[in-house]
Amino acid sequence: MEYCIDCGNRIRGRTDKKFCNDHCRSHYHNALNRGRNNVFKEVNHILKKNTAILDQFVQQGVFQIEKQTLAATGFDFTYFTNFINGPLGEQYYGIYHYAYRQHPAEQVELVQTAEIWPET
Ligand SMILES: [Zn+2]
Repeated sequence: MEYCIDCGNRIRGRTDKKFCNDHCRSHYHNALNRGRNNVFKEVNHILKKNTAILDQFVQQGVFQIEKQTLAATGFDFTYFTNFINGPLGEQYYGIYHYAYRQHPAEQVELVQTAEIWPET
């Protein structure tokens, strides 16, 4: 005896079916995709917020920031777009067109990625 994985009702007919009908099939897949899209939206939101925070510092001409100051703005250090190796092997965290690296003295150095690799 098989049950629909969407509505839980018993399935009539072939025993290899997962859904009782097309309505349940599309309802199930739409709900699944909605969940996945929410994850994308959530991460994109954090990355956009991080970028907007960096925009504000750059617009003020500030490229050295206390880590504490950056954290106080709501900047989320756990989200970034890529790792970038600088010309001297230093490691930057990329956030779209920005990159930053942390110095031992709790300072964050902010650059625009074009400054690390002018051709990119
Ligand atoms: Zn069903």
